[in-house]
Amino acid sequence: MGINKISVSQKRDDCIGCGACTSFAPNNWSMNGQDGKADLKDAVKKGDMMVVQVDEDQVEENKQAADACPVQIIKVSGHNE
Ligand code: SF4
Repeated sequence: MGINKISVSQKRDDCIGCGACTSFAPNNWSMNGQDGKADLKDAVKKGDMMVVQVDEDQVEENKQAADACPVQIIKVSGHNE
């Protein structure tokens, strides 16, 4: 029984920079001052997605960020699929 890691992903190219994700899940998201898009912290690029594993206690806020994203580019594994 370990701590499950859940993956969060973002199709960053389509981000419109609204900032909703940073409001709901500031531990994992920040706004990029260069291009105005949201950065998923510590994420690695996989194809056209940025992907990172988060701890279970950060899942709920990332689900809220996914639901709040107006262009629906945030996915939490097992959620919104
Ligand atoms: S909520 Fe979606 S569109 Fe808004 S900044 Fe975050 S990733 Fe970009």
